[in-house]
Amino acid sequence: MLRLLTILSFFMISQFALLAQGRFDAVVIKDHKLTDNIYMLEGSGGNVGIYINDDEVLMIDDQFAPLSDKLKAKIKELSGGKTTKLINTHWHGDHTGGNENFGKDGAMIIAHENVRGRMSKEVVRGDRVSPPSPAIALPVVTYKEGMQLYIMDEPVMITHMHRAHTDGDSFVFFPESNVLHMGDCFFKNRFPFIDLNSGGSIDGVIKAVEVALMLVDDKTQIIPGHGSMASKSDLVDYHKCLTTVRSKVAQHIKGGGTLEGLDPAIITEGYEEWGGGFINAEKITQTIFNSLSSIE
Ligand SMILES: [Zn+2]
Repeated sequence: MLRLLTILSFFMISQFALLAQGRFDAVVIKDHKLTDNIYMLEGSGGNVGIYINDDEVLMIDDQFAPLSDKLKAKIKELSGGKTTKLINTHWHGDHTGGNENFGKDGAMIIAHENVRGRMSKEVVRGDRVSPPSPAIALPVVTYKEGMQLYIMDEPVMITHMHRAHTDGDSFVFFPESNVLHMGDCFFKNRFPFIDLNSGGSIDGVIKAVEVALMLVDDKTQIIPGHGSMASKSDLVDYHKCLTTVRSKVAQHIKGGGTLEGLDPAIITEGYEEWGGGFINAEKITQTIFNSLSSIE
């Protein structure tokens, strides 16, 4: 019986792995040229940014492990080389899944200290368990508030956003090229996932968006964590959505209302189109309620 179970579970695991691999087999990495040196790469998972010059490739986020070879091929095609430095905007697997593969290839991994902290140990969120990452996949350069890098003469500003999508988010800004990668502090035209179990909060996300609004102008090209390339006006729309929904939930809480007493359709009225993805009206209402009700 035990043997049968072992065979069965082995079969199920390999089926699952095949399905997972199958899902990635069909993924094609698309590149969007933003400037002479900067591209956004789209595949499956968080949007990737790359900065290329004659000697180096700086990469921002790296999607899922099964996509590393495709990403490397695209980077080779665009730059003739490989990733030398890799910044993680936060710890989630759809942004750091390729770390091990890029780390083995010699990339120096850079991220907020909480990214290293969370990736170093097992993380349990509901029924999702993320095992600790191998040492080669961990950031080797970390910071608390941010850092300034220079890739030859191109300055790169990395800034930590406090308790936003998680507790380890960073923006990566190229002031000379006027390109900003916001990681998952920005989901374009859709309700965001806010990872309260990883130290995220609605107020932190709103604050992060306000910081971004101070950095950008009408010409800034903004790479959102998820969604297509964006501009300042998309970010203004996003800010309006978040603050509108937040204030309705806050008012309800102030009046002594419970989560059960909230009607997601009323709370998100006017933003029906924004709930089509992974986070629907009910989920965002719940997240904001829980975030505002949690003891700080
Ligand atoms: Zn994320």
